[in-house]
Amino acid sequence: MIGRLLLILGIFFFMWLGYRFLKKIWLDRLNDVETQEQETQKIQQIKACRYCNIHIPENEGIDQDGDFFCNYEHLDSFLKHKAKHKTEHKP
Ligand SMILES: [Zn+2]
Repeated sequence: MIGRLLLILGIFFFMWLGYRFLKKIWLDRLNDVETQEQETQKIQQIKACRYCNIHIPENEGIDQDGDFFCNYEHLDSFLKHKAKHKTEHKP
């Protein structure tokens, strides 16, 4: 009688271990999918340069006060152009 009880307890114990093992694998898999999705989102964020309108990934350009530029040269040119534009329209 006790032997059978121990056997049943043992079976439950191994089922519990198996459940934990499978759960861990499943969670690891879910985390992998999430990181992959986040990485693709990062790559897919493409912005247009405010100066020359070329489209490049956000992480390769420069974000300046909400304006996006493909390189520092265009950021500089744009700011200069803006400043010039402002002075021209002064009364
Ligand atoms: Zn540009």
